[in-house]
Amino acid sequence: MAANDGGTDGSMPVADDLIVVSNRQPYTHSYEHDDEGERRITVNRPAGGLTAGLDPVMQETDGTWVAWGDGEADADVTDENDEVRMPPETGAYILRRIWLSEEEVEGYYYGYSNRVLWPLCHGGTMKAEYVERYWQRYQQVNDRFADAIAASASNDPLVWFQDYHFALAPRMVRDALEDPFVMHFWHITWPGWDTFRACPQGEQLLEGLLGNDLLGFHVERYSENFLDCVDRALDDAFIDEDGHRINYDGHTTTVRAFPLGIDAGSIRESSEAADPSTEADLRSVYDIGSETTMIVGVDRLDYTKGIVERLEALERLWETEPDYRGTVTYVQKASESRSLIPDYQDLQRDVRESIERINDRFGTDDWEPVVYIADFVPQEELCALYRYSDVMLVSAVRDGMNLVAKEYVAAQVDDDGVLILSDQAGAHEELGEHALTINPYDTESFADAIVRALTMDPGERRNRMAALREQVESHDLYAWMDEVFATARDLREQRDHDGG
Ligand code: UDP
Repeated sequence: MAANDGGTDGSMPVADDLIVVSNRQPYTHSYEHDDEGERRITVNRPAGGLTAGLDPVMQETDGTWVAWGDGEADADVTDENDEVRMPPETGAYILRRIWLSEEEVEGYYYGYSNRVLWPLCHGGTMKAEYVERYWQRYQQVNDRFADAIAASASNDPLVWFQDYHFALAPRMVRDALEDPFVMHFWHITWPGWDTFRACPQGEQLLEGLLGNDLLGFHVERYSENFLDCVDRALDDAFIDEDGHRINYDGHTTTVRAFPLGIDAGSIRESSEAADPSTEADLRSVYDIGSETTMIVGVDRLDYTKGIVERLEALERLWETEPDYRGTVTYVQKASESRSLIPDYQDLQRDVRESIERINDRFGTDDWEPVVYIADFVPQEELCALYRYSDVMLVSAVRDGMNLVAKEYVAAQVDDDGVLILSDQAGAHEELGEHALTINPYDTESFADAIVRALTMDPGERRNRMAALREQVESHDLYAWMDEVFATARDLREQRDHDGG
């Protein structure tokens, strides 16, 4: 189907009863005060990414989206079933909100999801905190979501879970409903057995996920890791490695890689709209000279993103290559996240200190080596930043995919940027051939790669970027959704053919 048409091509085999389940909701409601001081309710729409991509699919299929209602005015607009029809103009589908208590948010979201599963899946076994109440609340919230899904489902539902917040719910839904089709996309890495075996709840997590008919990961390696973990942890599981299928407890789960894409067309359009006057504005706002080369990094502030490692490589660059002092500026766009978790507070401090050190060491009256942008930046400005930066640094120490790398590529409408990409990011599987590959921990080679990018001749830049753009545009978000739904359709047909 054509990229960027904001929906399906009509052949997409979406179910009659599609139920999407995610932690974050597509729309939130909040309060606003007008000039007269009157309070009114406003709705915040999906900003981008998968949520924005799935929204039109839900509108087409009149499905149900089940998610945590975390907006301050959310409860004011829902009915007795905790439902509200969205989007406001058409009410095309149902948003069913799950209310979480403070204890549930602490245990399920900040606790088990982000202090156990997140570090565990990214290989950080030492960071995982196995606190009993986190696990209890994670089970409890998965149970509550499963109940809501069961209550929302009508005939022959297709339930699609998103991400690591719901490892247990697939089995619960399977137990609650008569032969549902359940699928799940796990948006982060799946670790190797030697990492996963540290998890005391490992068996329950695997059993939960094996309630799915289809389980998707970004890259083949994560699927293989998952099969291996099941093989080693569950004695009664039968693994068909060639078919990527697992039979457990009388049920078959197909495990497949579906590398998530971005809405490349929308990024391209925003980038094309950023004419040279936008570049001049950008440079003036960030106080970057018109002749200065810009290198960019865009990240949620997370310890998986390798931001401190990246700053070390830049420090090495300015240390060993004095010509780049005053002529090259690094722009770090970052957004704080999960700030209630101490590891994230530590990271925020480390990043701040690294930037201060570098700017103190090399900065002059008219040149700041590292420009830090903490404010929210709308898509148009972000795309301008991508487009007019000569080099992008993606240095994740572990990352399921890394969509920022793809966004930078999609925004290179002049084909003149260079992507430096960590081989620890899932995106490296698709983009590694034409990006410059780095190991984020190898500071010296990382700095060398930056020099190579800065000195690359225009012909090579163009060739590499054109190949990257072709890859990102042809494997965009809509192609991804088509592939997931087509696989689901085939598996459902096979199931119906085999008699359930
Ligand atoms: N992003 C943003 N502002 C920021 C940092 C990130 O809008 O300051 C967006 C970015 O454009 C991308 C997403 O957040 O769409 C990050 O996705 P990615 O897969 O790179 O990392 P994640 O945050 O999901 O781990």
